[in-house]
Amino acid sequence: MAQQRQARQKSRGAGDDAAGDTVHTDGADLEPACWCGGELTDSIHPDYLRCAECATFVVKRQLNQEQLRQLYSFDNYWHDYAVHVKALPAIEQRAVDDFNDRIPAWFDLLRQLVRRCNPRPNLLLEIGCAHGGFLSYCRKHGIINVVGIEPDEQTCEFARKHFELPYVFSGLFPDVSLPFDRFGVIVGFDVVEHFPDPVRALRAVYDLLGSDGIFLFQIPCYRGEGREWPQFNPFEHLFLYDSVNISPLFDQVNLEIAKILPGCFPFDMLVVGSRKKAALVQNSGQTSEISSSTAGQTAPLGLDA
Ligand SMILES: [Zn+2]
Repeated sequence: MAQQRQARQKSRGAGDDAAGDTVHTDGADLEPACWCGGELTDSIHPDYLRCAECATFVVKRQLNQEQLRQLYSFDNYWHDYAVHVKALPAIEQRAVDDFNDRIPAWFDLLRQLVRRCNPRPNLLLEIGCAHGGFLSYCRKHGIINVVGIEPDEQTCEFARKHFELPYVFSGLFPDVSLPFDRFGVIVGFDVVEHFPDPVRALRAVYDLLGSDGIFLFQIPCYRGEGREWPQFNPFEHLFLYDSVNISPLFDQVNLEIAKILPGCFPFDMLVVGSRKKAALVQNSGQTSEISSSTAGQTAPLGLDA
């Protein structure tokens, strides 16, 4: 398994144009490998392989760190690619529109989790914070210290200025310096599927999560839709999971999924949990347990599925 991961990380020429549908490879590709080390076989989608062990979809064309930085740049990802490839508004408009649906929905769920699990809600990290709207919403609703990470410095600057956020840092997670060692809450919306090395990234989540902390990730969830599934997007989505194989991925780094909820959008799932062993939490003077659970089963978090 380790050998396969090392193979994936061997470098190739930096500087290729990694923008949207102009992404190309130069014949010295990084070798695709599943996070679990399982054998990869052809899949229903021409741009993805599928793991024979865990059924994760693995993109064939791997991008190196420099290419990833170019892909997620302010001008490319949040303007050209968003508007011309994905037919979405540019980031300035997203910083308005997202308050109409996903931001309050995510916060409502987070508020339920905080009520139930009582982590340190005054210290929150968002990986992939985009324009910073969710962080701003959290601050206005009582979470004092919020920290964001986004690959591109210009995008971070937009978030810092637009929402007056002091702590927004650029870099490809987990290679980012942060002003705090531990967080009560770590969230990421549509980010886990972008990690080129999900095990390394989630191990860093474990390291940054307080012993009583909780995580909340929105991740695409394959439910057998077939090759027309819109989440098959090889330029961005490097690994695609389902409600079964997501649990052993987190388990591998000692993160325990307590519950998998439907996402705000039909193709997603919301994955919530904590560090393993941090099972006992206090709630209103009573001890309750975030027990281990298999994917999709009900765990006692007290949330409506
Ligand atoms: Zn696998």
